[in-house]
Amino acid sequence: MDEYIRKVTFNGTKQSYFIGTCAATPWVTVQYVEKLCVEKGFSLLGFNSVVMPQGYIAGGGTQPKEVNDKILKEAEPKIVKLAETIRDKQILPKEQPGKAVMSKLLNPIMYSMMISAKGFIVTDKCTGCGKCEERCPLNNVKLINGKPVWGKNCTHCMACIAGCLAEAIEYGKKTQGKPRYYLGDE
Ligand code: SF4
Ligand code: SF4
Repeated sequence: MDEYIRKVTFNGTKQSYFIGTCAATPWVTVQYVEKLCVEKGFSLLGFNSVVMPQGYIAGGGTQPKEVNDKILKEAEPKIVKLAETIRDKQILPKEQPGKAVMSKLLNPIMYSMMISAKGFIVTDKCTGCGKCEERCPLNNVKLINGKPVWGKNCTHCMACIAGCLAEAIEYGKKTQGKPRYYLGDE
């Protein structure tokens, strides 16, 4: 996301709000946001986060649907409040950073050792619908002869695998038999 923001030229107001999603806490994301705002000449009017269901099925996996539905329900009042604050151009208190070890130490280690599309495979269940290609935010999935092929630019968001309604994608053996959770179009 920060790569995208760095590349894009924004017209109009320089006042900005950043709202992150996370599975538990955004750790020190606020510090990255502050740095980005300085680089882009943005005036940061606030940073906050909303807890969303976990979907990292190449790792810990997702929770039962009823747990995820509850997380979404509980997030609604906060989302409304954040939207009202932004609509009214009010200052949004900056969420305090969490432990730096997760963002600054573990994140680079994970990227160098675990974050790769090499583990993705497609099974015979694939219908060739092309949704995995559409859903990849990094354009890292291409349909070739009706089947997905993964490139090298993967951030392990799990949108391709979790969003495949045919459950035709696996990440090695790590995802076999695990439930998928994807909140999006059917
Ligand atoms: S989303 Fe699933 S079924 Fe559709 S093309 Fe991709 S792997 Fe095949
Ligand atoms: S995990 Fe995310 S970034 Fe990686 S290929 Fe799938 S959709 Fe793209």
